[in-house]
Amino acid sequence: MTRKSLTITDEIHDYLLCNSLRETDVQRELREYTAGHKMAMMQIAPEQGQFMALLVRLLQAKNIIEIGVFTGYSSLCMAQALPEDGHIIACDINEEYTNVARRYWEKAGVENRIELVLSPAVETLDKLIADSKTGCFDFIFIDADKSGYDDYYERSLQLLRKSGLIMVDNTLWYGKPADPVEKDNDTRAIRAFNHKLHRDERVDISMLPVADGITLAMKR
Ligand code: SAH
Ligand code: CA
Repeated sequence: MTRKSLTITDEIHDYLLCNSLRETDVQRELREYTAGHKMAMMQIAPEQGQFMALLVRLLQAKNIIEIGVFTGYSSLCMAQALPEDGHIIACDINEEYTNVARRYWEKAGVENRIELVLSPAVETLDKLIADSKTGCFDFIFIDADKSGYDDYYERSLQLLRKSGLIMVDNTLWYGKPADPVEKDNDTRAIRAFNHKLHRDERVDISMLPVADGITLAMKR
């Protein structure tokens, strides 16, 4: 039995990218632009973006929510995998970051598929619930402030259709949740969230050691 996942050395990672990455031109341009940003490490890895695009197609998703947009790379990957009439509600609070996102969404010609809502994500999700949008979404990507994960998850479960999928990013958070010495707020929040999800009978789950750890939760 292969007991654990491979340790991804730089050589293996380069090989993986060279032999599988299919980035669109605008995705590559946005990634290269964001690489010069002081918060560049917040962006998802390109192979994760490609995986998300594949999931969007697999789910035949039309309605998506993204919680945490930054410069728009993950939303761009999903938008380019959506059909013409697909729709993403993109939640963020930072105008400066998302101005970059808007520029590249336009460049890729997918700006009509993405509705950016600049308010705290809990407010946006609560408004969708109040507007009877429960059960309407196929795919929800949670990637904003880590202390908010549980609030986002509970609301996302309401908004998701049956057999819809939530992807939660950074669930291995630099490996810190596995180290009892680490006690900062973000690590505590992710540790508690992972513990809860493991026992949550409302979903089928899979935690994958991709990039900084992602957890998939499919609504039963
Ligand atoms: N998915 C993005 C990265 C997101 S980084 C990518 O792949 O590039 C996290 C984002 O969450 C930041 O842009 C930050 O502004 C946003 N954020 C932080 N707190 C938030 C909140 N309360 N509501 C909505 N967005 C929030
Ligand atoms: Ca992230």
